[in-house]
Amino acid sequence: MPLPAFQYLEPKSVKEASRLLRKTGRGKVLSGGTDLLPLMRMRLEEPALLVSLGAIPGLSFISYRKGRGLRVGAFTSLAAVGNSPEVKRQCPMLAQAAEKIASPQMRNAATLGGNILLDTKCPYYNQSPLWLESGERCLKAGGDRCLAVQGQDSCYAVWSSDTAPPLVALDARVKLVRGERARWLPIERLYSGLGDKPCKIAADEILTEVLVPEDSCRLQTIYLRYSQREVIDFSVVSVAAARYRRKESAEFRLVAGGVDPAPKRLLQAEALLRGKVIDKSTAQKAAAAAAKEVGPIKDVFYPSRFKRDVLRALVEQAILACESGKKE
Ligand SMILES: Cc1cc2nc3c(=O)[nH]c(=O)nc-3n(C[C@H](O)[C@H](O)[C@H](O)COP(=O)(O)OP(=O)(O)OC[C@H]3O[C@@H](n4cnc5c(N)ncnc54)[C@H](O)[C@@H]3O)c2cc1C
Ligand code: SF4
Repeated sequence: MPLPAFQYLEPKSVKEASRLLRKTGRGKVLSGGTDLLPLMRMRLEEPALLVSLGAIPGLSFISYRKGRGLRVGAFTSLAAVGNSPEVKRQCPMLAQAAEKIASPQMRNAATLGGNILLDTKCPYYNQSPLWLESGERCLKAGGDRCLAVQGQDSCYAVWSSDTAPPLVALDARVKLVRGERARWLPIERLYSGLGDKPCKIAADEILTEVLVPEDSCRLQTIYLRYSQREVIDFSVVSVAAARYRRKESAEFRLVAGGVDPAPKRLLQAEALLRGKVIDKSTAQKAAAAAAKEVGPIKDVFYPSRFKRDVLRALVEQAILACESGKKE
């Protein structure tokens, strides 16, 4: 399907980009376009203006400073994130996740910022206009109820971005710029948990960089994902695990993708591991708790039970992998 008509501008600064978005009221930021342009072709997004970040200097970089942490510009390509020796050294799990996304061509075009702000996916919504017109529209498509979860009045479309679970597990911060003002936000708080509006970012706000703080660098971490195909496919379920070194004992941060409209912290599983000797038995208990705390999983392609089983297996594997690789 051809793209709908739109105006296209290339501002030279973030401030100008934000001003243009505020002025039009119906604009969208364009980074790699690998998610936004397909949505526009399907008429699921019809912005009057696309504001490209491509001509703004200083949005594509990777830098590490001791004491501060790892900073990555929002316009940095996923290929650059996945291949960066600095990312591999400081936050290997972020490189692992970026390397698994889509295909080499897509990773060259797609950006970290676009991946963090990816829209949720659902087979009742991500369809052509003809398909949507042939039946009742769901809540996210302008109707009044969810079709995937009968009788529900909120949207359960699932979170599928691969870099977000690792960044939440690493307690990363994002910088959001709106006009003259900038704010730093823990990435966990960027996500609303609502499938029809998953990111809490204003229409004229621009994500400019991501910071992984120093105490989240060089940890024992792992990112695992299950997808039907190895390439050009979204993850069905994913798990990011980070093992923090605390004074008395180790502490885990565990985050799942594909099971909720946001990257989901597995808090009960984390609590079960706190202060414990980590062996197969504790890992299995935590994994069982994780499988219980994510429900209800509403994914029309995969039964809830299947997703829970995959999640349980990935959580157990991730905990044991982090523990066996511990350095202290
Ligand atoms: C075939 C295919 C396979 C895919 N496989 C995967 C996969 O395995 N894993 C995965 O995670 N994703 C996958 N994707 C989704 C997508 O390509 C990626 O998530 C990509 O990282 C999106 O980045 P982008 O730069 O292209 O974003 P864009 O499409 O340009 O933007 C995405 C959204 O974010 C907004 N935005 C972008 N940058 C900013 C910013 N700096 N500030 C404010 N708003 C911004 C845009 O307005 C838009 O709403 C796949 C897509 C396709 C088509
Ligand atoms: S989860 Fe429900 S409301 Fe959300 S996109 Fe799917 S069918 Fe629509």
